[in-house]
Amino acid sequence: MTVPAWRDLVLDPAILRESDSDDSRLIVWRPAGGDNGGAREWERIGNVARGEIAVSDGLGSTAATTIRAREAGGGLIGRLLGRLGAGKARRTYELPGGGTVEQVGERTSDGLIVWLEDPSETLDEDRIRTRWPDARRCQRLGPRLFLVEGVSTPRSSSASGPPPEPDDASPRKLGEAALTAARAKGDRPAEATALTDLGIIVLSEGDPRTAVSLLEPALAIARELGEVDREADIMGNLGMAMMYLQQPDRALQLFEHELAHARSRENVLAEKVAMEHMGLVSAMRRNPRGALEWFAQALELARSVGDKQQEANLLWLQAINLAELDRRDDAIARGQEAIALFTRLGKPQAGWYGAYLQKYRMGLFDNEPMPAVTGVARGPESFLGGSLTAGVVAAQAPAPTNPKGTTGPGLLRMALTATKSMAQFAGSGFKTTPPELRQRRLQVCSTCEHHTGLRCKICGCFTSAKSRLLQESCPIGKWPG
Ligand code: SF4
Repeated sequence: MTVPAWRDLVLDPAILRESDSDDSRLIVWRPAGGDNGGAREWERIGNVARGEIAVSDGLGSTAATTIRAREAGGGLIGRLLGRLGAGKARRTYELPGGGTVEQVGERTSDGLIVWLEDPSETLDEDRIRTRWPDARRCQRLGPRLFLVEGVSTPRSSSASGPPPEPDDASPRKLGEAALTAARAKGDRPAEATALTDLGIIVLSEGDPRTAVSLLEPALAIARELGEVDREADIMGNLGMAMMYLQQPDRALQLFEHELAHARSRENVLAEKVAMEHMGLVSAMRRNPRGALEWFAQALELARSVGDKQQEANLLWLQAINLAELDRRDDAIARGQEAIALFTRLGKPQAGWYGAYLQKYRMGLFDNEPMPAVTGVARGPESFLGGSLTAGVVAAQAPAPTNPKGTTGPGLLRMALTATKSMAQFAGSGFKTTPPELRQRRLQVCSTCEHHTGLRCKICGCFTSAKSRLLQESCPIGKWPG
């Protein structure tokens, strides 16, 4: 499907078109309510760059995000409300008609921009409600243009997404099949996707050199196609492979690009992942203070989008780096926060994280070897996004100098890296998902804009594996645990 001629779509008089809008983007501002404590509010609405276009029954649609913002200088109460609601990561924008606004609240990403194909007709809300009866909101933007919120991202009939994966499909087999199919069809974007996914699978199996040999050609294809979003995703994963190879300087360059790109796209979901990567590379460069700062920023964004799994992981990563700085009390407090959150999420990790934290608190040793970074991935837990982080963290651990075994920060690292091995034991708390529920999860992922066909770009998990584990959940709440 082709992108509509955004400039030709007429807007209602109150709607302002952002000057950055071009033929690939539509970004508009809508007055969003009256004075709130003296400050006028606006809503910034934009289509997702390179989002899929679906056309059905004369209606076109593509994914959209919205941000609410409040005019600066709206009186004392308005300024106070703005500060209270804004938090540190809020951005300011120039309004197309002049003036500055500051983001309030969180970005929504479950919207669609919907337009009527026929320029001689007018679109009304009834037609939208007939098509999307469960929509949370329908907001007119022009005679042929609406924002619709609370719906899934569209797929065109020609791009209806992969069918739900068969029960016995391993990520490796699916990745290899996708690569063979893409090459047979000469489909370069699909080939880049398959190479990337396979590279990450191989990295999860502990083979960074082969991973690099898959990710680098994927990057070359993305550049050849001029697909900058894809390029940034590959660079982030290539950076993780470089971390496995103990090349933090190269990893840092790749992560910096990943972060800059996420920010230029105002993509909070990608930005929080890139910030976690920056924290990991800071830790590898023996800069625990820098790592703490990056993890704190990532934590703020993870909380802002409700990604509890990443929040818990980041709290534990903070605990490790606080322990590195010998801030024992802070490390214990942060570790307890992580465990409390894992417990609330029903994650079995809570049990053994608690045991390792107790050893750390009591100054004890653990004489088990640190779980290996390399090795064959044996279960679904090996293909969760966190398993790559665990591999990197394990690789950062210096060999224990005390003959009694691992102590101090190493104990907290062991808890993270133990997840892979613990999951292989019956009774460790990992439960499998009933088949019907698993299929429903896979169906949701198959229509999600963050799904590559095999992998969730937000949490880094391979959904054929993630969907099997009952306690897992979608990082942005599209399917519950
Ligand atoms: S888990 Fe699935 S539905 Fe949720 S964000 Fe990832 S791909 Fe999308």
